[in-house]
Amino acid sequence: MSEELIVKCPTCQTEVVWNESSPYRPFCSKRCQLIDLGEWADESKRIPSQSDINDSDDWSETPQPEPKDF
Ligand SMILES: [Zn+2]
Repeated sequence: MSEELIVKCPTCQTEVVWNESSPYRPFCSKRCQLIDLGEWADESKRIPSQSDINDSDDWSETPQPEPKDF
């Protein structure tokens, strides 16, 4: 049996499933996460660029070349 843990977004109270499909849990979205961190105001002033893309991939490490593969 698989139990799904449901949490509520602290910012907007939207229900969020606690698994890999919710990278911003317990927040429902990056926007809500930023709001909670108090960075939303700053975020809205600048145009999201590459850093925005990297944020969604922060669980993986940057692959590094191995010396033995030389
Ligand atoms: Zn939310």
